[in-house]
Amino acid sequence: MKYALITGGSRGIGRAVSVKMASLGYHVLINYAGNTAAAEETLRMVREAGSDGTLMKFDVSDAEASRKAIEEWQTSHEDEYIEVLFNNAGIRRDNVMALMPREDWNRVLTITLDGFYNVTQPLLAPMQFHKFGRIINMASVSGLKGLPGQTNYSAAKGGIIAATKALAQEVAKKNVTVNAIAPGFIKTDMVEGLDEATLKKTIPAGRFGRPEEVAEVVAFLASEGASYVTGNVISINGGLYT
Ligand code: NAP
Repeated sequence: MKYALITGGSRGIGRAVSVKMASLGYHVLINYAGNTAAAEETLRMVREAGSDGTLMKFDVSDAEASRKAIEEWQTSHEDEYIEVLFNNAGIRRDNVMALMPREDWNRVLTITLDGFYNVTQPLLAPMQFHKFGRIINMASVSGLKGLPGQTNYSAAKGGIIAATKALAQEVAKKNVTVNAIAPGFIKTDMVEGLDEATLKKTIPAGRFGRPEEVAEVVAFLASEGASYVTGNVISINGGLYT
């Protein structure tokens, strides 16, 4: 059995990636923060796609909870390892910097950056031991370009891009690749409340993207065939920013 851990797998892009990985035969470990009903729906869809999954509820920014969840899984799967990791969990708390509460700065950074550390660090040794691993990190156009009203989010996503490039060089010899994806506007709960009609006029493709369109790119990066692609950031944005 091949295992893929998808953080933030209960909704949006994480759900689409969970279903895609299931369709490729992976047992999907679906991490989420609190929305159990949504996570159960993802699990149902994973099963419908022909595979199976396991719900793993923990806050990726909580070091102790993350360590415990991963250790427990590893202990009960002694001879197996998680070969694909999609670090996808994330939130946005938009505000201009002059009005941004410290809590909103901290929360966005800790979920993205501490979350990356907490989940990735314990999985690296098994990936390197087995000489195969795929780590895909969720960045954003904000992390490449910087977007006003998102200084916290841009800092977090820019940080994850730099971490991707650094880690890729550490583990390349062991056949572990580390890449990031940088979506533009993708239709999920996260973009609820944005003015889609106005924003889509700024996108050359003339529309928001679908989570399934992101999942295709993640599946490619997770594949054996992507073995010589590492340390890269792939934009998925309908031409919004090139
Ligand atoms: P979404 O629909 O709001 O889903 C967010 C997911 O992250 C949910 O599964 C949520 O779990 C989980 N999550 C949030 N905080 C968490 C935590 N502390 N620990 C574990 N899981 C947590 O968002 P989305 O649009 O799919 O976004 C997924 C990722 O893509 C994010 O990193 C986001 O920044 C990035 N992104 C999105 C867009 C876009 O336009 N949508 C563009 C670029 C990048 P619960 O269901 O339990 O709350």
